[in-house]
Amino acid sequence: MAPATRFRFRVESSFSVSGRGTAVIGTIVAGTVRVGDRLRLIGPDVVLTSPCVHVDAAPRVTGRAPDSPPAVALVVPDFDAGAIAEGDELASVEPVFCPRCGAVTELREDTRYCTRTGMDFSKVVGDELVRLVTDPPASVDRSDIKWGGRWNCPADGTRMSEADGRVTCGGCGRCLTRSLMYQLIELHVHR
Ligand SMILES: [Zn+2]
Ligand SMILES: [Zn+2]
Repeated sequence: MAPATRFRFRVESSFSVSGRGTAVIGTIVAGTVRVGDRLRLIGPDVVLTSPCVHVDAAPRVTGRAPDSPPAVALVVPDFDAGAIAEGDELASVEPVFCPRCGAVTELREDTRYCTRTGMDFSKVVGDELVRLVTDPPASVDRSDIKWGGRWNCPADGTRMSEADGRVTCGGCGRCLTRSLMYQLIELHVHR
């Protein structure tokens, strides 16, 4: 299964809207956005996330070149307008589920946690979970090891099953990679 295209947005300008937070004007590079989506700001020195609380697909913006792509306005209350610069990119943050229990994980200060147990994942495993959700490998090597245990898909939280040397999600077809399995078993003792 090909995952849905990730929303990406190129910032042209940002400003504060009294009582609402920060509005950003820019253009959609890929995907779609809805109110409630969590967006990540990817700037040269900053990675922040905020829910998107307003989308205006046809804002009145003056001073743009007549042939520029259509402007879109988003309101992202948790971003500081001063921290967003022209050329920065916003991208959607898909939920990432805990592979050990299926609860949603969250990122706090660069560390990913299971929201049910509070267990924190190492940076390497956290990054690999995100990669498995956003950009899954075309194939995962089979293993001679019998992993055992209960596993949940990082992309949708579905219980996974072990067969033919792989731990596979019946919903989306993603498989946990061998390196992820090793590290989850060795380092991440889930309460
Ligand atoms: Zn968990
Ligand atoms: Zn899945």
